[in-house]
Amino acid sequence: MFRVRVKNDERELRPTKIICLLRSYAAHAAELGNEPPDRPRIFLKPPSSLLPNGGTIIIPEGVRKMHHEVELAIVMGARGKDIPEDSAMEHVGLFLPMLDITARDVQEEARSRGIPWTEAKGYDTFAPFGPEAVPYPEYDWRTRRLWLKVNGILRQDGNTDLLLFGLERIISDISRIMTLEEGDIIMTGTPAGVGPLEDGDLIEAGIDGMAPMNFHVAKKQ
Ligand code: MG
Repeated sequence: MFRVRVKNDERELRPTKIICLLRSYAAHAAELGNEPPDRPRIFLKPPSSLLPNGGTIIIPEGVRKMHHEVELAIVMGARGKDIPEDSAMEHVGLFLPMLDITARDVQEEARSRGIPWTEAKGYDTFAPFGPEAVPYPEYDWRTRRLWLKVNGILRQDGNTDLLLFGLERIISDISRIMTLEEGDIIMTGTPAGVGPLEDGDLIEAGIDGMAPMNFHVAKKQ
């Protein structure tokens, strides 16, 4: 069971799916040699990849290049299908800081073979989340700094203003493909500065206006 703090209360995180945006910041698309997409493009992570704050991100056996990506996530507050952009924000329940952990070598191999990225993104512990979520109407997602440090050294320092698509568009587009259920999580993608994680690393990361998150990194025993 995954729980997160919301004000003085606790809420259970129980997504039926975790939907992730790819290349949604131009500078991140460019740093991996990709063109920015023409519309929000997505992949999925399984709910079993969630990891509460303070936990240990596990480097899977055989993975040699694992990357961090700090991201603003939405927890859906209401079910929706074919949601119009102008009412999309009414479906938002919470905002949550998260990391999208990626086995980059596994992803690169999948890309070269033309097969899905599911393995690269779907390992257990590859969707760490912060200790605190904030309710939507009380939190303006615009102009929020996203940052990430590894062993005290700043690696990522971006801003939600650099997102290529607004959240209204992202929610609306996704809901035209799949029904968004209450509790589903949308991870909105990462700014530039992604980089490698090694056994023993300590990650600190956060988004303005929400409590920061901390994780350890360790090899699978
Ligand atoms: Mg990502």
